[in-house]
Amino acid sequence: MRQQAWQGLKWWVSGGVLLALAGAVGLARQSLDEQRALFETDARIVHRLLSQQVVQHDAILATLALLQPAPLDSPTTSPEQRLPALYPQILAVQRRDPDQAWPDAQLTRAEAASHVQRRAALGATNLANGRYQLVLSATPTSYALDLDMRAMVPWTEWPMEPQSSPVRVVLEQAGERYVIQPGAQASQTGWHWEARKPLASESQSFDVVSTLTVGPGQLPWTRMLAWALIVAALLTALRHLQRQRAARRRAEELLRLGQVARLNTLGELAAGMAHELNQPLTAVLANTQAAQRLLDDEPPELATARGAMAQAVAQARRAAEVVGRLRRAVERPDASGSLQAVNLNEAVKRALYLLEPECQRRGVTPVLDGADAVTVQADAVALDQIVHNLIFNALQALEQVPPAQRSLTLTLGAHDGRGELLVADSGPGIAPEVLPRLFEPFFSTRDGGLGLGLSLCETLANGMGGSLGAANRALGGAVFSLKLPLSTGDRS
Ligand code: ADP
Repeated sequence: MRQQAWQGLKWWVSGGVLLALAGAVGLARQSLDEQRALFETDARIVHRLLSQQVVQHDAILATLALLQPAPLDSPTTSPEQRLPALYPQILAVQRRDPDQAWPDAQLTRAEAASHVQRRAALGATNLANGRYQLVLSATPTSYALDLDMRAMVPWTEWPMEPQSSPVRVVLEQAGERYVIQPGAQASQTGWHWEARKPLASESQSFDVVSTLTVGPGQLPWTRMLAWALIVAALLTALRHLQRQRAARRRAEELLRLGQVARLNTLGELAAGMAHELNQPLTAVLANTQAAQRLLDDEPPELATARGAMAQAVAQARRAAEVVGRLRRAVERPDASGSLQAVNLNEAVKRALYLLEPECQRRGVTPVLDGADAVTVQADAVALDQIVHNLIFNALQALEQVPPAQRSLTLTLGAHDGRGELLVADSGPGIAPEVLPRLFEPFFSTRDGGLGLGLSLCETLANGMGGSLGAANRALGGAVFSLKLPLSTGDRS
């Protein structure tokens, strides 16, 4: 029984752990999904902002190429020289007029590439320092921009806090990179996400790489813990409710078994008996007293005395009939019960379930042994009563030995067309002088015992064509055996 309770508790605990884990995993997933969605949105915004910037450079070069170049020796500043003041990322603007050459070979090569590709081309590029050159070949004058990536980032529209955000943003090209936002250093464990996309300008197609690593520390532990606590509280409340319901069911079953009802019936029978016997016994007394007086007369009135004695005999017979009727009622309370195929194992399990608290109170763990399915021909209610009484008697006997020595074994079997249940305990056993009187009505060695249990059980067993026996075990303790005819389907 205790093992069963422990098993039950194990189910509850493992169910609770599973539920708590499933919920926590769900919460973690949801949080990760949210963080990822936020990261992807930020990465998209970053890419758009930087693309907008670099596209401007193409537009500026194209505009310069379209404009009539101012002569180099013009007293006014040529318009391109005013560009750095307007665009902080433009460090300098260089130009090559038709009869001139670029100051370095890289610009010459870039211009040639630009000429072939019919768009601006990259000149000297130093991503580590965030510098690069953009050259556009045009006629008559070609232009080159010296650009600073640091000043290119539109911080006012930036979607993140550059110093504290965990997202790392870099511009990459051919293994070189310029770090725009440092972010958190990628840790070993956790979830790593990366968004990589080239800038939307063919001439400056640097990759914008945004990365984010979310470590275990960033999971929603408080919410996960709260969920686990809610699950634990809910399951505890549910278990409590279930136990309460089980206790109520058990009490109802006990009532059904008729423990209480039988005692009430006994009381009613006693009251009825007193009432029914009172009248004939009074008549017997009156008639015998009258006969006594008549016989004492001189001369004695024999004829009248004889009549009075005949009356007394008749009344005494009536009293005997009342007692006989009562005995029949007590001895065959279930004579009306119909016999049917009843699973003996189930009856034992039902009784063990009902007596579970009694077993626990005495620290007894019943062991169910033997055949798995024995089906007997019995009245279900009567069978329940017998099994219940035998186990309860055994538990009472076990109270007389120390807890460590208490054992109760229920063995089921089938022999010679009969199903058998053995209820063996390790109690004090049955004294030799008690053994022959065990099944007598009103015989009890217990204080306050009625002495009706075993006699009723024997009557019920006999009524179903079975028998009840008792013996002492060789190793100490008593064993009661209930034998009942096997149900027709079970006979071998
Ligand atoms: P009650 O339980 O009211 O005494 P029972 O008819 O059930 O009436 O039992 C009659 C007597 O049989 C008990 O008083 C007890 O002496 C004896 N008895 C019954 N079961 C056992 C048992 N398992 N071990 C020892 N004695 C038992």
